[in-house]
Amino acid sequence: MTFVTARLRAYLARTPTRLALRQAPSLSAAQTLNRYTLRTMATKVEKTEDEWRAVLSREQFRVLREKGTERANTGAYDKLFDEGVYSCAGCGAPLYESKTKFNSGCGWPAYYEGLPNAINRHVDKSWGMERIEITCAACGGHLGHVFKGEKYDTPTDERHCVNSISLTFRDKDGVEKPQDAVDDGVWSRVKRMVGSVL
Ligand SMILES: [Zn+2]
Repeated sequence: MTFVTARLRAYLARTPTRLALRQAPSLSAAQTLNRYTLRTMATKVEKTEDEWRAVLSREQFRVLREKGTERANTGAYDKLFDEGVYSCAGCGAPLYESKTKFNSGCGWPAYYEGLPNAINRHVDKSWGMERIEITCAACGGHLGHVFKGEKYDTPTDERHCVNSISLTFRDKDGVEKPQDAVDDGVWSRVKRMVGSVL
């Protein structure tokens, strides 16, 4: 009898382990979800103001870190429609696919949607307006603003109006095409040069 009780006690002691094994599919589902979340959530990039100044040009710092706006029609990527991906010029996080870019005619690169979880939105009440600011989810760098309901012929009816200088473009082979390498006309280049020294 003692032997049987001991066996039963031993069996009961093992039972939680068996239950845990039986629950393994839900555990692995949770792990899968974690992996998915990690993959889709941008890795946070934090730098001090001095560290940002060391890696950004003066104009990039003004726009990305001080929420400035580049002059209209001066951004090299405004009229670029090559196939590829646009990333944050501050931290390199991918932000937009070229297939979501459209020619808005507004003077800045325009996209109808960003990559999942890559872009954060904030209410911006500066300049007496209420606009929705968009920032890089990884480093907080200022990208521009998003406007809705303008009736552009796009799937989302949204326009992400993004400063060209906040972006870095890589073509479908992963080759970077810096702003300076974009041939968008002499006049645009001159305006960029003037803008960068003012
Ligand atoms: Zn960034």
